[in-house]
Amino acid sequence: MNGEHSPQAFQAVVLFGPPGSGKGTQAKLLVERLGLPHVSTGDMLREHIQLGDALGLQVREVIKAGNLVPDELVIRLVEERLNRPDCRPGVLLDGFPRTIDQARILLGMAEGRGLRLLVIHLKVDYDVITARLTGRRICPQCGTLYNIRLKPPIVPGRCNIEGARLIVREDDKESVIRQRLVAYDAQTMPVLQFFAERVDFFEVDGSNRKPEDLSDEIVNWIQTTVQEGKAS
Ligand code: AMP
Repeated sequence: MNGEHSPQAFQAVVLFGPPGSGKGTQAKLLVERLGLPHVSTGDMLREHIQLGDALGLQVREVIKAGNLVPDELVIRLVEERLNRPDCRPGVLLDGFPRTIDQARILLGMAEGRGLRLLVIHLKVDYDVITARLTGRRICPQCGTLYNIRLKPPIVPGRCNIEGARLIVREDDKESVIRQRLVAYDAQTMPVLQFFAERVDFFEVDGSNRKPEDLSDEIVNWIQTTVQEGKAS
């Protein structure tokens, strides 16, 4: 696909999965290959927290505790973002929707914009998730992700690109990770069924796969699905 889009191929691709399932890593690979803007509600919320604006102050403690931010706040963020011209040919959503209400609204937004919804579920074992998230480190300057066990930086504790001291995300502490998984099970899991019944839906096991292989599989599915859609 390499970023080439025909009007019939306008898509909203949703990367769906528990925290630590590799949505962010896949999003980075897919954005390059599909040429769609990456919209991550987690990243947007963290930007507001860093700015220290009203929204940032409102959501900081909720995120720190591993709970979900109220629907109306994230829906507003996503709606504003989708209204920008770069999202007209489509979008890659990462971390949204996370509740049935968000999913319903997204269905409406996609329909109104002529975007076909394609949902990819990254299934990952919870033990693998905990290992990934407790070892996760992030560069505060460029956002590059590392893992002290699985993908360590060249110089311990320093970003390969920026040389900055790597940090632990506030919500990657073990007790908070547990709460994020509880929130996922209770509020986000039901969204899977909702989508499976309504839109094109693809499930892949991302527990022990190389990100590049997983990305190949996802791109193949997207291409096939879009082609089939055009033919019918
Ligand atoms: P993420 O980076 O996607 O793991 O998101 C980090 C945190 O931001 C989550 O644990 C939630 O507290 C909040 N968040 C991100 N996206 C959403 C969403 N769609 N709905 C509610 N809260 C969200």
